[in-house]
Amino acid sequence: MPGGLIDRLIEALRCLPGVGPKSAQRMAFHVLEHDRGGATHLAKTLLESVDTIGRCSQCRTLTELKTCALCASDRREQNLLCIVETPADVLAIENATDYRGLYFVLLGRLSPIDGIGPKELGLDQLAVRLDNGAIDEVILATNPTVEGEATAFYISEMCADRNIRATRIAHGVPIGGELEYTDRSTISHAFSGRRDV
Ligand code: ZN
Repeated sequence: MPGGLIDRLIEALRCLPGVGPKSAQRMAFHVLEHDRGGATHLAKTLLESVDTIGRCSQCRTLTELKTCALCASDRREQNLLCIVETPADVLAIENATDYRGLYFVLLGRLSPIDGIGPKELGLDQLAVRLDNGAIDEVILATNPTVEGEATAFYISEMCADRNIRATRIAHGVPIGGELEYTDRSTISHAFSGRRDV
């Protein structure tokens, strides 16, 4: 029955990445036939997450806390700041390297055509952080796409203006967005092989 609740459920499931009409239909019938408890749990957790999870006041990563656990830790080196595009990139670097500095998560990359400028990426907030003098090195770990490179360049200029050392991870290595294609040792080498820009 078109427009009925089952159709709406199938359509709603398609907001998930990689879920086409066939997969959405399979998921909808699966939960209705076999796992209503799981579906209820999913629905409640989704709602709670969307209502509660915001951004860390320091690094802008996704968290339900005001300041995320990593930023709040006193065991991190406070003078190193690694710039990444996504929270998944933080996890990839944490898992693959012995980096123990701090992060700044852009949640995107400069893309004027999509209306994503410095403000959308929190670069005004980053500027304040660079101005306070605690950071000695900024590691640019944005992805090697056109937008990722433009973003890295933009931030390297912000560093140059303030006489802060900026380094770029080894060229050509995607970090988190393409994680399934990037093994730990590749990330580790890209990180340790970073160069001044
Ligand atoms: Zn944080």
